[in-house]
Amino acid sequence: MHPRSHAEALDAADPLAALRNRFLLPEGLIYLDGNSLGPVTSTVRERVERVLTQEWGTSLVRSWDDHGWWELPLSAGARLAPLLGADPDLVAVTDSISVNLFKILTGAARLRPGRNAMVTDLASFPTDRYLIESVAELLGLHVRAVEVHELLTTFGSDLGVVALSHVDYRTGRLHDLASITADVHDAGGLVVWDLAHSAGVMPIDLEAAGVDFAVGCGYKYLNGGPGAPAFVYMARRHLAHLHQPISGWHGHVAPFAMESVYKPDPGVRRMLAGTPPILSMAAFDAALDAFEGVSLHDARVKSVALCELFIELVDALCDHHGVDVITPRLPEARGSQVSLRHPDAFAIVQALAERGVVGDMRPPDVLRFGMSPMFIRFVDVWDAVHVLADVLETGVWRQPRFSQRGHVT
Ligand SMILES: *Cc1c(COP(=O)(O)O)cnc(C)c1O
Repeated sequence: MHPRSHAEALDAADPLAALRNRFLLPEGLIYLDGNSLGPVTSTVRERVERVLTQEWGTSLVRSWDDHGWWELPLSAGARLAPLLGADPDLVAVTDSISVNLFKILTGAARLRPGRNAMVTDLASFPTDRYLIESVAELLGLHVRAVEVHELLTTFGSDLGVVALSHVDYRTGRLHDLASITADVHDAGGLVVWDLAHSAGVMPIDLEAAGVDFAVGCGYKYLNGGPGAPAFVYMARRHLAHLHQPISGWHGHVAPFAMESVYKPDPGVRRMLAGTPPILSMAAFDAALDAFEGVSLHDARVKSVALCELFIELVDALCDHHGVDVITPRLPEARGSQVSLRHPDAFAIVQALAERGVVGDMRPPDVLRFGMSPMFIRFVDVWDAVHVLADVLETGVWRQPRFSQRGHVT
């Protein structure tokens, strides 16, 4: 097994090492939960202060024009687009994933009239599942939930819309976005990808893959802050045709004409509904500063190496404590997290947090450790797994206080 100096050497050779300085991380904490809530950056803090004092505080309503508030959902979308391999005018930053899924799934299903099956992944994130069920019910369609590897066998002539997560939030399994998109298209369907656990940690090429629609999260690996607006992408060929049902005035072609009839904006602005939350929107936009000059290829290489080291150390130190690695061991089949299984996952995660190692837990028995290549060091991984091994070895997690639950795990 590798000594700590091995991790130190990896840090010394890491071309992304300096990016950590862009983040305001608490001293002494090993934060392996950037896949749930990314940390704040120094430019986010400056930007939010500026919006409060100079923009809202001084320019007030004039800020919509004078400080670019009006453009923010689309200008932030254009800045985000290269991280998604999307054309800059096809991405909007707005609402939450849940709300965007409602808009996109409804609009997409209506583009395939007579095709009554909506298909999703059995393991999909709960909100994605709830929304597809709701849309199907509203439109009189039905949902088929299947294992991703069985997708193809379920495609019939009734296939309408397929909604999938690029990375399984629980196991970290990475799905082949390009080949599944091609298969769905061959079957005559449309595909909506949820990029919540891939945007910002790996190169994505939505245009090359011919993806129809995508949604994703602003507060995870993109570090946009708690409740940051989400994003939505649509392919150019659908722009003129997709009618989303939350026909609010900010998606209108001319909101301040105050017309009585809804006429959608010709572009991706039609995905907007009501007035955007400017403080959160500005924080999200400023969080993208951290990606300036960063190659997502390099980020992926580092993310893979961080996961490899984590898994190697777990195998060496924790194996005999009933811990299983459930993340795929093949790097190509993995997102940017390592998930372990243990019946007492909750208490172990709590005990780790007390020792300064923050991961999270997903029911029933999964410990998740997110590897954000922007700020995690190889020594953090080395230290974290040694703390985990010690927590398991000593059984400290059995103390009753580690079993008390809050609202968020
Ligand atoms: C985090 C996450 C969401 C969050 O949805 P919101 O409505 O933005 O809170 C949705 N889907 C997936 C796959 C996620 O990981």
